[in-house]
Amino acid sequence: APTVAVEGVHKRYETTDGAGTTALADVSFTIDPGEFVTVVGPSGCGKTTLARLVGGFESPTSGRVLVDETPVTSPAPDRAMVFQAYHLFPWLSVQENVAFGLVEQGVAEDVRNERVEAMLELVGLSDRASAYPAELSGGMKQRVGLARALAVDPGLLLMDEPFGSVDSQTRRRLQRELLDIWRTVEKTVVFVTHDIQEAVLMSDRVLVLTGTPGRVRDDVTVELPRPRD
Ligand code: ADP
Ligand code: ADP
Repeated sequence: APTVAVEGVHKRYETTDGAGTTALADVSFTIDPGEFVTVVGPSGCGKTTLARLVGGFESPTSGRVLVDETPVTSPAPDRAMVFQAYHLFPWLSVQENVAFGLVEQGVAEDVRNERVEAMLELVGLSDRASAYPAELSGGMKQRVGLARALAVDPGLLLMDEPFGSVDSQTRRRLQRELLDIWRTVEKTVVFVTHDIQEAVLMSDRVLVLTGTPGRVRDDVTVELPRPRD
């Protein structure tokens, strides 16, 4: 799993009316290989922007984002993202959604099928392989999103409010499942949430962003018992 270094990052979005928004100012931190870090802060403080910068979906206006000491300039299969709103392809079945990144990478069909099966088993959806997203509950869709992200075996998993669209009971179950999975897969995880309780529950290390533009207000270590059944 990779190291992540964010060094003096500023991000400004220019808008056509010339106003523009500075989303992040002077943000610096590092993440060790295999670490699970939560990023918490109020709406608008730049959490999504930060996740997108680390994923290579945005470029910093100044400063640098390094993954394993290499500057991030574009998205790469080694950095997978899971979104709040699922972003599943509605015209593809569950197994086709999970296979998507592998197809893009030109992975041979037999290897691909095996990998898809393993991922669906990991997230407990083997029996829904041929269902379509519209036929699934929110929690199930979120598990498909996670399986799709994990299928390409990324070293770095970026999760942007991944459990923000499901009810609280389902959220607690998914939180537990994600931690159980993380303990087995050796991935560096950046987990974005606006919910401080969720942030502290998911990880010992909590990066607190505040303000507009967002700055790192705290980088704290809190040791609590992790959620368990
Ligand atoms: P958060 O995830 O913490 O809610 P965001 O990263 O989504 O914060 O947004 C931070 C700030 O940047 C907000 O003021 C938002 O309006 C602005 N912003 C985000 N994306 C864009 C964009 N593509 N164009 C212009 N402004 C944006
Ligand atoms: P999850 O924790 O996956 O969100 P729910 O608690 O919403 O699951 O639902 C429990 C079970 O009910 C699911 O495992 C699924 O079999 C079924 N189910 C729920 N919602 C739907 C739906 N919209 N379409 C089909 N089956 C559903």
